[in-house]
Amino acid sequence: MNKLDSSLVVAALKDIGFQITDKPTLADVVLINTCSVRGHAENRVMSNLGHLKHLKQSKPNLIVAVMGCMAQRLGSELLEHPAVDIVAGPAQIPQIPEMINDALNCRINSIAITEKIRARHAPAENKTLDDFELAYDTDENHISSQAFVRAMRGCNNFCTYCIVPYVRGPEISRPPHAIIEQIKKLTDQGVKQITLLGQTIDAYCYDGDERQYRLADLLEMVHDIDAVKWVRFITSHPGKFDPAILNAMANLPKVCPYLHIPAQSGSDRILKAMNRKYTSAQYLDLIAQAKETVPGIAIASDFIVGFPGETDDDFAATVDLVQKARFKNSFVFKYSPRPGTHATKEMEDNVPDEVKKQRNIDLLDVQNQIAEVDNQHFLGKTMEVLVEGLSKKPHLNKAENDNNPQLIGRTATDYIAVFNGPEELAGGFAKVRITRTSPLTLFAKLI
Ligand code: SAH
Ligand code: SF4
Repeated sequence: MNKLDSSLVVAALKDIGFQITDKPTLADVVLINTCSVRGHAENRVMSNLGHLKHLKQSKPNLIVAVMGCMAQRLGSELLEHPAVDIVAGPAQIPQIPEMINDALNCRINSIAITEKIRARHAPAENKTLDDFELAYDTDENHISSQAFVRAMRGCNNFCTYCIVPYVRGPEISRPPHAIIEQIKKLTDQGVKQITLLGQTIDAYCYDGDERQYRLADLLEMVHDIDAVKWVRFITSHPGKFDPAILNAMANLPKVCPYLHIPAQSGSDRILKAMNRKYTSAQYLDLIAQAKETVPGIAIASDFIVGFPGETDDDFAATVDLVQKARFKNSFVFKYSPRPGTHATKEMEDNVPDEVKKQRNIDLLDVQNQIAEVDNQHFLGKTMEVLVEGLSKKPHLNKAENDNNPQLIGRTATDYIAVFNGPEELAGGFAKVRITRTSPLTLFAKLI
């Protein structure tokens, strides 16, 4: 979602004549988009601002703008930082170009954030955000021929560890016609894959004049657009999952058989303390139902280790859930207390950091062993990938391998495949045969 926000603002700035550089020393304006989900991400922003403070001593006219969740969270406190000229929350991104112009022309520092973040947005504000998305979402913003499209903003779940509801505001589903209009604009520019975004995308629900639209309906509408070849969606919340989504996946060939559905923990005690509203048994039932309804479905998850009060037994229950679910991959995070959340206010962050670190390593090990075994089933198989472009291995790329560099592609099930081929394949579909596997990557030959 942050990548999408950054690209929209960049496109709006280009539109009024700015050029993009990634070197702060060359820039007139430095924009930092921020994430507040874990403390580590915020610490990195503060350290970047420290560097920029020094840079400003030799470039006093440099404008520094901080946007995103941290801007919303810290507000005027951030504006007091000696490096910062502009602070804009996630709902104020359409104002950023004007704020930058004011700062450049009149040296006015400014702040735009939402005062009462949990109050329902005024319809006019939603309209401004929708118009901004439609105007500045272009193929250029994304990996060639793929686009992220926001279906929902905000979140109402209040998982006790999570800061998102406090910085992104209440859950709002965008009108389906706005989403479809935006997708048609993107496909006119060559986009072939759409990823619908929402913090709890499976809870998408829009009450139209005559009917209600849920995620399964939206998927069907996107599926009906000829130029869309693949459509996927992230992220699903296991507590609200509507089985109609699985039927859509099974029946609509362009809906990718991939589900990112974070479990967070396998311990019912911890899940309750996290306010996740499901048990590990319910979660595993859902996974079983998904595998039965959609053969070949790939399922990925997120976990938090070291949540307050997590014992060795609780962690063992998480390991057990991972072993039973056999995920395609899992993202594992060490619990990070976030200011203002229920867990920070009411629970002690009492799992020592070394224990969190060790559990993180151990859980990833378990996940890797599973993927190592399961990925071998792909050996010798032919798979279709959407080619993203050059892989990040420079020695296997253009300089030494002019016509046949190493490329990276993704299957409909979200597996990464690397293979050699002409760079012109980027943005298109290709068929590859899998020749070697590892826990995170499939190695392949272009057919
Ligand atoms: N809306 C998504 C996740 C958003 S945040 C969902 O509900 O699944 C992405 C991931 O960051 C979460 O799935 C969680 O695993 C992790 N996360 C969120 N808050 C965290 C915290 N305080 N400490 C550590 N990890 C956290
Ligand atoms: Fe955070 Fe929970 Fe909402 Fe996900 S569902 S964004 S973890 S509060």
